[in-house]
Amino acid sequence: MPIMNALVDIVGADRVSDDPAELFIYSRDSGAQPPGRADYVVLPKTAEEISRILVLANREKVPVTPVGAGLTLSGIVVPERGGIVLDMKRMDRILEVDEINRYAVIEAGVSQGALREYLKKHHPRFQHSTPEAPPTATVTANALIHGHGHISPRYGINSDMIAGMEVVLPTGEITRIGACALGGKWFSRGPLPDLAGLFVGWYGTTGIVTKISLKLFPKPEFRQVIVFQTDDIDLLPEAIAEIMYLDMAEDFFLIMQEKPDWMNHCFLVVILSGHFEEELALKKEAYQRLLSNFKGGNRISFVANLHPALEKRFLDVPPLAALAADFRKGGGFQYTGAILPIDQVPAAWRRGIEIAHKHGMVCSYVHQVLLGNSIMFGFNYSFNRGDEADIERARLALAESNRTALELGGMIWKGEKPAQQMVLAKMEPHTAQFIRRVQEFLDPNRIMNPGKWEVP
Ligand SMILES: Cc1cc2nc3c(=O)[nH]c(=O)nc-3n(C[C@H](O)[C@H](O)[C@H](O)COP(=O)(O)OP(=O)(O)OC[C@H]3O[C@@H](n4cnc5c(N)ncnc54)[C@H](O)[C@@H]3O)c2cc1C
Repeated sequence: MPIMNALVDIVGADRVSDDPAELFIYSRDSGAQPPGRADYVVLPKTAEEISRILVLANREKVPVTPVGAGLTLSGIVVPERGGIVLDMKRMDRILEVDEINRYAVIEAGVSQGALREYLKKHHPRFQHSTPEAPPTATVTANALIHGHGHISPRYGINSDMIAGMEVVLPTGEITRIGACALGGKWFSRGPLPDLAGLFVGWYGTTGIVTKISLKLFPKPEFRQVIVFQTDDIDLLPEAIAEIMYLDMAEDFFLIMQEKPDWMNHCFLVVILSGHFEEELALKKEAYQRLLSNFKGGNRISFVANLHPALEKRFLDVPPLAALAADFRKGGGFQYTGAILPIDQVPAAWRRGIEIAHKHGMVCSYVHQVLLGNSIMFGFNYSFNRGDEADIERARLALAESNRTALELGGMIWKGEKPAQQMVLAKMEPHTAQFIRRVQEFLDPNRIMNPGKWEVP
């Protein structure tokens, strides 16, 4: 039976297409990476449908690429070798919220916006960690790519918040990870051999996650933003360490932009929260005292008159920290998300400005501090998607900032294909071969998102 007919047989004619006009949007994203080619798009509704699709794909040796909202910007949802795109957005049910055991079980297509609004309405005392990504981004894909959200500085990155999973293996078996594998509540993924790592960070090359259980956190009633400013970037590692040592920040990010002029400083933005107004006031005073006395005083200043519009942007969940990324017009945007040790911030800062200037760009930074041991250092580039030369400039800039991230002892978060190859080339060779063996073991016909994390 032709593949199209077999797919219609599995999901019905209204949830599969091979129409080139519909496939167009699945063949690219809004980053700077080259487009690919999708032959079919399918919108499954159940794990059983996905299982049947994977059995078919193995039989026909057809690639399968899962896509959430396709907002990672680095081409990791772009099918490189054709085949079936599995668009997860019809798997959009929020199945359970358990306030006492603090988790939510959701299907893989549930968006950030949907979960946020659902919790706001039905469980207002709880929240999940929300990335700054557009609200259509899926909660599951964000957790699977080691994303980070507005409470990550306090509680950890979003992959740490997975308490259980349902996964369809590349060969079609439907599996469970965590307590849910024993038929219990979805409250914890241990103590058991922790299989979750086989699916986190792999870009869909090892299986399709169909459900996750996500940890929930308290949502204090009161929130406030305080902003500090400095022009001395060499102070940053110690200042970051001290702010995190005080251990009261809910969110903490650094921003800088060369334009407009008033933004051309280093701003340290600290979001505080509290269950009581007095708690919030105490936290604010503690941070002001800490930074006014920092290194004998006068090295970092408190921004007293933050514009109300800016205050609102920072306090929104998620915050709108990226102020004016689209400098060039034309809608293209991609960044190297370098995960760096905090002591490398000054070196990365200087190098990032050099790279932007070398490629004729305005430097623009948003960096989120993660738990106190690392920072997501964003080397941001905007470009005109209609101008091939401009796109190529962005690719060159990305290659340089990727290299910088590795030279500084860091890692590249959700990197595009050349970044993945750069990481694998630097990796200890047995480790790289281990990755390949895991992929071969789970996916003997190598049908899953081929080309991604491809060990030579
Ligand atoms: C303006 C802007 C701001 C952003 N800010 C943040 C931020 O603050 N924090 C942050 O973490 N990210 C941020 N991002 C990056 C990105 O948008 C988010 O991480 C987003 O959550 C990714 O979700 P997605 O559904 O778009 O994933 P996709 O791009 O669709 O998928 C990501 C990867 O996961 C795989 N995948 C998808 N679904 C599954 C599945 N069910 N099973 C197995 N594999 C799967 C895909 O094949 C792909 O390799 C930002 C992006 C933009 C555009």
